[in-house]
Amino acid sequence: MCRVFLYIDKEVMHMSEYSDYIDRRDENRKFYMRAKWRKTREQVLKRDHYECVHCKAEGKMTLNQHQSLEVDHIKELHTHPELAYDLDNLQTLCKYHHNKKHGRFEFNPNNKKNKYNDEKW
Ligand SMILES: [Zn+2]
Repeated sequence: MCRVFLYIDKEVMHMSEYSDYIDRRDENRKFYMRAKWRKTREQVLKRDHYECVHCKAEGKMTLNQHQSLEVDHIKELHTHPELAYDLDNLQTLCKYHHNKKHGRFEFNPNNKKNKYNDEKW
């Protein structure tokens, strides 16, 4: 009887680990579909006057309107889930700056490569 119990317990654990894995995988997708998120997102866009905060900091107007704007988690969702709806952790970014933030930071043609070329010239 004891053995059977342990066996079942092991199976249950295995199943719950598997469903945790699936949950984590779908977590972001689910998050962005939530009504609460859509409401929070709208608040952030309004607060930032429907402008990309990075473009604004560079003194540019966001060229593309409303649809190209995305609301970014400053501290990322998967590392700081507790800040998911914290307005201080959210900012409006255009697609360009959002991709830039989550893209490859090591790619920086204005620094090392130009320096190298200068030295060569
Ligand atoms: Zn921008």
